Amino acid sequence: MIKHKRNLALENKDIAAERVKILFEQAKLRFKKSPELSDRYMQLARRMAMKFRVKFTSAQKRQFCKRCFSFLVPGVNCRVRVYRGMIRYVCLKCENVARIKIGKR
Ligand SMILES: [Zn+2]
Repeated sequence: MIKHKRNLALENKDIAAERVKILFEQAKLRFKKSPELSDRYMQLARRMAMKFRVKFTSAQKRQFCKRCFSFLVPGVNCRVRVYRGMIRYVCLKCENVARIKIGKR
């Protein structure tokens, strides 16, 4: 019984990860026409990820603001700068700065 439950949870996790992926894709596609919808997708993706404990991929992590959860598009609503071996993403909505280390050579 317990084993069955665990398998089910794992399956749900896969589905959740897939849905998160789709939400990111859709957010990207819809951003030009309705950025609010993209933000909404990010909130849904976050809720989904938390519920099923799905980790965002590193590519996904840099596509939304960790504070206000708006979908970030460089040059539109976020500023990207490279500084001392770090990439800095500044959300123009809440001014939150995300720093990402540039990968090891
Ligand atoms: Zn923000």
